[in-house]
Amino acid sequence: MTDSSRGTLRGKAAIITGSTSGIGLGIAEVLAAEGADIMLHGFGDAASIEAQRKRLGARGVKVGYSGADVSTPADVVAMIEHATRELGRVDILVNNAGIQFTAPVDEFPVERWDAIIAINLSAVFHAVRAVLPQMKKRNWGRIVNVASTHALVASTNKAAYVAAKHGVLGLTKVVALETATTGITCNAICPGFVLTPLVQKQIDDLAASAQLNGDEARARFLAEKQPSLQFATPEQIGALTAFLCSEAAAQIRGAAMPVDGGWLAR
Ligand code: NAD
Repeated sequence: MTDSSRGTLRGKAAIITGSTSGIGLGIAEVLAAEGADIMLHGFGDAASIEAQRKRLGARGVKVGYSGADVSTPADVVAMIEHATRELGRVDILVNNAGIQFTAPVDEFPVERWDAIIAINLSAVFHAVRAVLPQMKKRNWGRIVNVASTHALVASTNKAAYVAAKHGVLGLTKVVALETATTGITCNAICPGFVLTPLVQKQIDDLAASAQLNGDEARARFLAEKQPSLQFATPEQIGALTAFLCSEAAAQIRGAAMPVDGGWLAR
């Protein structure tokens, strides 16, 4: 890991939702490299999650794991309690778990709308609500919400996702204002495209519908939105998260920070 082992987060405990895959795993790796104890979270194959847990633990930090389903409010609360028990505290909450589904609004399955709002938006509220009292007691905390460029602009066929991510940014600002005179900050990161399973599925769909090979589909997918024509990486999102958790970022509050290859510039 680049810039690893500086230990700037030694003594802090972090839960990163959705950290069994993609962006969340990248964030967990960077925070562990900075010395934070980690609660991994999300779904996946038990053996590979255990391997991830061991790999992060080899950095000399405590690493727990929660498989809570964040579509259920009670499970979100239980997840925060579990992390607090296992790590002794939660200083850093990264709300990252998320799902995607694409269809025009008038064909959008109601069940997919409900699931995206529950996982991508409501779970953020329930986790923040559950963790804030202990952060207030210690007068220190960092809440980082992994939103999206879709928190600021829209795309077709993503009604639920865009609505949820705009909601996450609104919630981020409210929490930032309510904690503005404390040592707790709350910010949103707005990634453009990062090549994870969530995005690979959309590229596969494009390849199938436009009869393109994998490389052509990836190139067209990027060209439509991301001027750099390159994916952002989980490690880059992790590095920004670590910065937002640092003392240097103590006066960054309620911000939406793009990592988007220029998407929002045009
Ligand atoms: P991913 O599919 O690789 O990972 C999603 C994670 O969320 C997994 O760990 C999964 O187990 C977990 N998860 C999903 N539903 C869950 C549930 N009900 N309960 C518990 N865990 C659940 O996706 P990713 O691309 O890494 O996305 C992570 C976040 O980044 C999401 O919020 C996504 O909206 C956001 N994002 C991604 C991109 C991108 O290009 N990949 C861009 C902008 C924002």
